[in-house]
This record gives sequence, structure tokens and C-alpha cells, in this order.
Amino acid sequence: MSSLTGAKLHLYEMNGAKIAVDAAGGAVHLLDDVSWAILQKGLMESRAEAVAALPGFPRHLVQEAWDELDQLKDGGLLFGDEPWRSWTPPEEVPVKALCLNVAQSCNMACKYCFASPYTRAQDLMSLEVALMAVDWLVAHSGSRRHLEIDFFGGEPLLNWKIIPPVVEHARGYKDKVFSFTLTTNGLLLTEDKIDFLNRENIQVVMSLDGRPHIHDAMRPPAGGSYSTYHRVVPRFIQLADSRDHRNYYIRGTYTNANLDFTEDVRHLVELGFREISLEPVVALDGPFALGDEHVPMILQEYERLAEFYLASRREGVPFNFFHFQVDLFSGPCLAKRLTGCGAGYEYLAVTPKGEIYPCHQFIGREGFLMGHVEEGGVDPSITRLFREAHLFNKEGCPDCWARYFCGGGCHANAHLFNGDIHKPHGGSCLLHKKRLECSFYIQSQLWEASQA
Ligand code: SF4
Ligand code: SF4
Repeated sequence: MSSLTGAKLHLYEMNGAKIAVDAAGGAVHLLDDVSWAILQKGLMESRAEAVAALPGFPRHLVQEAWDELDQLKDGGLLFGDEPWRSWTPPEEVPVKALCLNVAQSCNMACKYCFASPYTRAQDLMSLEVALMAVDWLVAHSGSRRHLEIDFFGGEPLLNWKIIPPVVEHARGYKDKVFSFTLTTNGLLLTEDKIDFLNRENIQVVMSLDGRPHIHDAMRPPAGGSYSTYHRVVPRFIQLADSRDHRNYYIRGTYTNANLDFTEDVRHLVELGFREISLEPVVALDGPFALGDEHVPMILQEYERLAEFYLASRREGVPFNFFHFQVDLFSGPCLAKRLTGCGAGYEYLAVTPKGEIYPCHQFIGREGFLMGHVEEGGVDPSITRLFREAHLFNKEGCPDCWARYFCGGGCHANAHLFNGDIHKPHGGSCLLHKKRLECSFYIQSQLWEASQA
């Protein structure tokens, strides 16, 4: 595979498809051989020069291709300007979402869990704190109408008793519209809970890593020795079936033990799931951590996954893979493209004690306690730190070809690996860019198939 990358243009080949990404405007172009040669050799200054430099192609084809590329340039779809480079974030951004860590406890002892001490502690959020958190969100949401609450942990179903009253309380605010998400390992998922989650239209994120031996090796029960895979899969299938395979996704983790993770996605598809996300493990070290030595294999595996994704579509078994769902036609607004996830000001996490942190990954990290839901405001210096950590203030981002698809990466990863939210984790960047390349490749192939 060949590629050429710069702050303005990214050119790459994947399985014979030649693709150009205009870094400024985010336009993606599928190229023929002549256009590829013109761009790769940097021949957009003059048409005559391009003809002279490419004697291997018929003159009229070079001229035609050059003219088409020139039109794209004129239309701002190639080598576009970026007048928003001087963008500054607004002074005030109302809060949109809270992650409620309703159970800082867990009935599994997953080996890669960033919150592994939860297994030992029994720390459940009281209903009083949870209701206070909802009121806090409403009070800090300004004129925003649509608000979000994530029930998270640990394992939130350990504290099920507070979830229905929290939902009811939030729905009592008639001038706000709440969406809810619940992330669960599935061990305590029962029919009555499924009924409630369906009735209240709560999105469910189900943690499942893929093949039985992969899942069970990483996700043993706390204080037991049974297969959690065999316990949770029937419940997850029941839940997905009961809501016609909508408003859920399977969220798995891969480690160095399953660098062939396409097989895990294949297994999930064979189980009947159609909404799938598989994330690299977040770990500094340890026997399952991902290191630089694993990156080449992972990049190759994403290409294999892209081919499996396309083959499944051709065979009439389409599924969605979270990281391949890039909307090229109506992507996020400018502010979102420049800032990414909104952690620390738009999106915050609350511990069982009511403490507020920039997001679930920052919980317990020194220097990131922002306030308490009982006390009103949050530390403005932390809010400002995150608001101003947009991609023009991050190391390497202003000239990265993927900048407007990425928004500057995950602050928590940057802080974990490099001790600074402004210094993105290089390994995560490589993986993210590869997933983008795969998703553009997929869209180019689907577009070509639709034209045939
Ligand atoms: S975080 Fe990494 S991938 Fe994202 S824009 Fe910055 S350098 Fe590029
Ligand atoms: S900082 Fe990272 S982990 Fe936290 S919300 Fe943003 S993307 Fe997610």
C-alpha cells in the first residue's frame, strides 16, 4: 500500500482503490490512475507541466483529469482554505450530558478494567445523590432542551433500584428531553429489567468481547469460576431481539490476545448482533497491553475487518461497526469537529459520592476533581482547561490530515500515556487514522457498487 500525507492532502491506496482526503474540508475522492499520479507528484500548479511530467498517460486524459481536479480546487473540495483556524471556544458552554457512576462496584473482575478496584469496593450511589445530579444537570444546561444521562459503573445493574426513580424524576422536567444509556456486563439482566429498558427507550451498551475463550479469559466473574460468556450471551440476544435490534450496541475490547479481532466481530455477527463496536484496550502495561510492536498487525487487521464488513453486506448480512460509520455528507458541526468529545465542560461524570470529574476515565485521577453536585458550580479552571484543549492547541493535531474527523483525540488517553491532555497518544492516533482510511475505503466500494 502506498500513501502520501500532508497537512492539506492525504493520499492512500487500499486494495487497489486510490483515495484522496482533503484535510481542510473533509471531502473524500476516489481517484483514477491519472488523477492519482497528478496529485502524488504534486502537479497542480500547471496543466502543461502535468502533461509533460506524465508521458506514460495519453495527453487528453491528463488534461481532462487535471481540469477535473482544478474544478474541485475551485469548489473548495481540494486544498481548501481553513478560515476557522483562528476559532476560539465560547466562554460558556451549557452542560449536555452526565455519566452517573451509579455503582463503583462490579460483579466481574475484568483483567483490563480501568476501574478494577471497583470489584473490591462496594460503593453504590444513593438515590438522593442521583436525583441531585439530575437537578444539577438541568440547572447547568441553560437553554439546551436535549439532555443525556449514562448509567455507568462498575456494573450499574448492581444499583438497579435507583435507576427507575432517576428516569422518572428526569422525565418530570417537561421543558427538557432526556435520553438515557446504560452500559452493562449483562450478569444481572433479567426480563423485567429488559421490559423497563425497552419501555423507557433506554439505549443499552452490552459488554461482550467476542469468541467465548476470548471473552472468558478477560472477563471472569468476581469470586467465581464460571463462564460469563455463557451467562450473558442469551440475555444479550434476548434484549436485542426484544427491541428489533435497535437502540443498542455490543461493545467489546481487544487486547494483544486477540489481534485477529475480525474473528470476534464475525462471531458477534453470527450470534445475530448488528450494532458492534470493538475498542483497543486502554492499558499502560500488563500482560495484555498493546504496544508499538502490535501496531502493524492491528492496522492490517482493520483492513481485514473492512473486507469482512463489505463481504457481509454483499451476502445480505449487513452490520454496523461503530468506527466505520463516518458520515461524509452531513458530519458534525464545526465546533464538534474542533473539540471532539466535550469532556470537562459539556459532558461530565459523577461518582457515587456526588463528586464531579471531566469524564468517567478521569474519575480518581489527581487534579481532576471539579466539584460536587451538592455545591453548585464546578472548578472553572478545569472547565477552561478542557474547553481550550481543542485541536489547534494539541501537539501534532493542527497539521494532521485526520484533524476534522478526529477533533483532537481522547483527553483521557493523552493524559494516561503522556501526562498531558494536550499531547495525544501516538498509538491511538495511528489506529484512529487507519479506521478512518478503512471507512472511506468502504464508502468508496459501496458507492462503486451502487453505480454498477
Ligand atoms: S489526536 Fe491524533 S489523529 Fe486526532 S487529530 Fe490529533 S494527531 Fe490527528
Ligand atoms: S476524554 Fe476520552 S474517555 Fe473521556 S469522554 Fe472524551 S473520548 Fe471518552
